[in-house]
Amino acid sequence: MDQKRKLYIETYGCQMNFSDTQIVGSIMTDHNFETTGNISEADLIFVNTCSIRDNAEKRVRARLQEFKRYKKQKPGLIIGVLGCMAERLKEQLISEEKMVDVIVGPDAYRDLPRLLNVAEGGQKAINVILSADETYADINPVRLDSNGVSAFISIMRGCENFCSYCVVPYTRGRERSRDPLTIVKEAGELFSEGYREVTLLGQNVNSYKWDDGTGFSKLLERVAMVNPLLRVRFATSHPKDLTDELLHTMAAYPNICRSIHLPVQSGSDRILKLMNRKYDSSWYRQRIEAIRKILPGCAISTDIITGFCSETDQDHRDTLDMMNWVAYDYAFMFKYSERPDTLAHKKYKDDVPEEVKSVRLQEIINLQQELSFRSNHADIGKTFEVLAESVSRKSGKELSGRNSQNKVVVFPKKDYKPGDYINVKVNACTPATLKGEVI
Ligand code: SAM
Ligand code: SF4
Repeated sequence: MDQKRKLYIETYGCQMNFSDTQIVGSIMTDHNFETTGNISEADLIFVNTCSIRDNAEKRVRARLQEFKRYKKQKPGLIIGVLGCMAERLKEQLISEEKMVDVIVGPDAYRDLPRLLNVAEGGQKAINVILSADETYADINPVRLDSNGVSAFISIMRGCENFCSYCVVPYTRGRERSRDPLTIVKEAGELFSEGYREVTLLGQNVNSYKWDDGTGFSKLLERVAMVNPLLRVRFATSHPKDLTDELLHTMAAYPNICRSIHLPVQSGSDRILKLMNRKYDSSWYRQRIEAIRKILPGCAISTDIITGFCSETDQDHRDTLDMMNWVAYDYAFMFKYSERPDTLAHKKYKDDVPEEVKSVRLQEIINLQQELSFRSNHADIGKTFEVLAESVSRKSGKELSGRNSQNKVVVFPKKDYKPGDYINVKVNACTPATLKGEVI
């Protein structure tokens, strides 16, 4: 038997990319590679990349420069760029980054072994063809860097919403859903292997649809029914498609986690329209009210973009007002970064000065810190069922896990281990973490 060659993969960007890396890991281990966490012993380096903001791309480019050193040390070393940057830049990336041998878009991973052969023959290899139906449904992901407790399951790919700022519809192609049978099977297998939490992933999970009529609510229910001890999460929901039916399904299954990520992006109706988000602030508020009514105690998190084209101080205040009104438990907050060839790039001017973007972002971050702290403080005295995930980074005597609301909870380890469900009474908090005692 040939000695296996070593693959080192680095992943940037969203959870979908981390999930894709596991598919790539599976394809490569079927072709006589094994993964390694030690870059200096690698025969093959892959970077799975993100294009969502300019700084994500800059980070990857800087990293590619560092890889030159390994190539000098090991001349046969092959370097591949995967994912959204590969798709967006195509051949341009090969001419700009000479050390790159292989360029592979997110729908072409099955072609990796062939592309590698081409590269080993001394030629540059590229496949950035997007597909209308590829979902990698039959590929069993290799759970790299897993904690053995929580796992991602990709349920759909691509996006057709064309929010005006966003590059995803161009880098990930048409929206397509994966066969529900394969999703439920994967969840069942994970449970048998000891996993206790799955997160169903898609850019807009609410528009999941399979040929037999299965929509997202039904799919979620089927996954929740795999086992009451398997927690189910999902991301991301688009506010325009979040239905009461879905909220009622969540309410009916205690193992569907009480946490919804509902990116608002902006609180201003004028900006939401320019962003092509297809909802306005009153629709969004009405969706939040539905969550509060149907799922009391459900955590709500969001994404916010500040400094979008033509955003005024009033638009910015509308965003702060929305944040205060919802009182988000958590938020991802970004400065607008213009992406080439998006609708916003073609139609609007990126005219909010960088300093103004920075000031607004800081105000948004400060407010969110306060809201997160308030939300965590309100949990003091409450008892939550926590799924233990790992030994706490700060102290070997503590375990860290999450409650249903997706908040990190740290508590004394005692004889508990990752994968256990433990009731913890919260007695202290920071803006990011709850601390408590086992009861
Ligand atoms: N599909 C999901 C959605 O619509 O909510 C998430 C897509 S994206 C990977 C995650 C977040 O990145 C978005 O919700 C948005 O806040 C942010 N984002 C996308 N494009 C951006 C851009 N050009 N500049 C700054 N932030 C951006
Ligand atoms: Fe991008 Fe909008 Fe699609 Fe999310 S829904 S991936 S923000 S285009």
